[in-house]
Amino acid sequence: MKSRHRLTGRVIFRGDPGYDKARKNWNPFVDTFPLVFVFAQETRDIQNALSWACENNVPIRFRSGRHALDKGLSEVKDGIVIDVSEMKRIRFNRKKGIAIVETGSNVGPTVKALAREGYMLPFGDSPTVGVGGITMGGGIGLLQRSIGLISDNLIGLKMVDADGNLIQADHHRNEDLLWASRGGGGGNFGVNTEYVYKLHKAPEKATVFEIDWPWDQLETVFKAWQNWAPDVDTRLGTILELFSKKNGTLRSTGLFLGHKDELEKLLKPLKNAGSPTKVFVKMFTYPDAVDYLIPTQKIPGRADANKKFSSNWAQDLLPDEAIKVMRQFLEESQSEDTNFFFLNAGGALNQPSPNETAFYWRNAKFYMEWNASWTDRSDQARNLALVEETRLRLKPFVEGSYVNVPDQFIRNFGPAYYGTNFDRLQRVKAKYDPRNVFQFPQSIPPKYY
Ligand SMILES: Cc1cc2nc3c(=O)[nH]c(=O)nc-3n(C[C@H](O)[C@H](O)[C@H](O)COP(=O)(O)OP(=O)(O)OC[C@H]3O[C@@H](n4cnc5c(N)ncnc54)[C@H](O)[C@@H]3O)c2cc1C
Repeated sequence: MKSRHRLTGRVIFRGDPGYDKARKNWNPFVDTFPLVFVFAQETRDIQNALSWACENNVPIRFRSGRHALDKGLSEVKDGIVIDVSEMKRIRFNRKKGIAIVETGSNVGPTVKALAREGYMLPFGDSPTVGVGGITMGGGIGLLQRSIGLISDNLIGLKMVDADGNLIQADHHRNEDLLWASRGGGGGNFGVNTEYVYKLHKAPEKATVFEIDWPWDQLETVFKAWQNWAPDVDTRLGTILELFSKKNGTLRSTGLFLGHKDELEKLLKPLKNAGSPTKVFVKMFTYPDAVDYLIPTQKIPGRADANKKFSSNWAQDLLPDEAIKVMRQFLEESQSEDTNFFFLNAGGALNQPSPNETAFYWRNAKFYMEWNASWTDRSDQARNLALVEETRLRLKPFVEGSYVNVPDQFIRNFGPAYYGTNFDRLQRVKAKYDPRNVFQFPQSIPPKYY
C-alpha cells in the first residue's frame, strides 16, 4: 500500500510472522482477519496509525486487553487494529492519592501493584482484562459496593482523537469527555493512552469466602442469595455462580473488607441455605486476598471455547418464573463452563445519580449475566439461540444491559446500555468524533446540535 503516512511501532501485516498470535483474542468467537496490527509503543505510533488509516480508508479498531466479548469491537476484517497493550507503565503519586496507568495495563498486575503499596482500586473477576476497555464501560466487581466502579475512580485521561490530537480530560478540562468515559463504553471517542485513578487506602486485612452446594439445590440457594446479598453490609461484595447441570456446581464467593468473625456472622443466611458441600472463610492480608481472588494468569489469556454472553440488571428480586428460565438454560446447555453469574449491587455503586456519570445502572439489586460455550462450529447456532431465547424470556423481570458485556442481538442498544444518558453520549460523540470515524457494531451514533 503506497501512502504519504508511515506506520510506526511494532507493525504486523497479514502474512508477517506473529500475525496469527496477534489476531487471537480471549474469546475465539470474536477473532477475525485484520489487514494490519500496530502495537503502539508511544502516542506518536497511534497518531501515525490513525493518519495512515484515514488516508487509506481502512476501518479502525483499537484494543487493549483483548477481552471484548462480542464481534467487531476490537478487531475488524481487513482493517487496522491499534493495540496499546505494550504501553503498560504504572506510576503513583502518594501525595495526591492517584495512580497514572497506561491503558495497555491489565487489571490484575495493576491492582496487585497498587495493593502492595497499600491502595485499593476496584477489580473484576479476571486479572487478564485490559484497563483500556473495562474502565470505559464501568468495571464492576467485588469492591463496587465499597468504593464504586473502576470508572467511578477515573478522574482523568489522555486520548488521541480521529484527527490525531492528544486531548486531556479531567474535572477542569473537557469535562464532558471525562463524563462520557465513565461508562460510555470503549472505542467510541478516541484511543485512550492513559488513565488517572483516585486511590483508596486498603485495609491491612480482608476476608474471603467460598461456599459450594449440590446442583439440585439451585432454587433454594438462588433465593437465599438474592434475599440476602443486595442488603448485606456494604463492605461485602459477593458473586453467585450457577453452573450448568452438566458441571453440577453452585458456588458463591466474596470479599469482605473486615474481620473473619464479623463475616462469619454476616454469612449465616447463606450458610444455612440448603446443605453446602464446602464452606471456606479465610482472612488474608489485603494483597493476598486479591491474589487469592484473581490468581495470576498468563496475559493476554484465552478461553478454551467460543463464548456468547448476555447481561442485564435486576431492579427487583426474581420471581419463580424467572428462576425456571434460568434452570432450563442450565439444563439445556451442553457445556461445563456455562453459567449464570450474579454480583450484588448497592452501597457505593448506587450512590451517584444515574446521570452523574455515563454509567446509568445505579438502582439495581444485582447484576446478572449468562453465557453459552461451544467448540464445534455446528453447535454455534444452537448456542446463540439459547442465549437469545433466555434473554427474551427474562426481559419482563429485568432491565437494561451492561455495555462491557455487550450483546449484538439487542436492537435498541442505546437505552439498554445507557438509559437516559444515551442522548448526552450522542452529543459528546458528535463533539469528539464528528465524522464518526470510530464506528463499530453498537457504537454511539453522533447527534449534532
Ligand atoms: C474473562 C473475562 C472476565 C471479565 N470480567 C469482568 C468483570 O469482572 N467486570 C467487568 O466490568 N467486566 C468484565 N469483563 C468484561 C470486560 O470489561 C470487557 O470485555 C472489556 O471491554 C475488556 O477490555 P479489554 O481492554 O480487555 O478488551 P479489548 O478487546 O482490547 O477492547 C474492548 C473494547 O474496549 C475498547 N478499548 C480497548 N482499549 C481501548 C483504549 N485504549 N481506548 C479506548 N477504547 C479502548 C475497544 O475498542 C473495544 O471496543 C470480563 C471479560 C472477560 C473476557
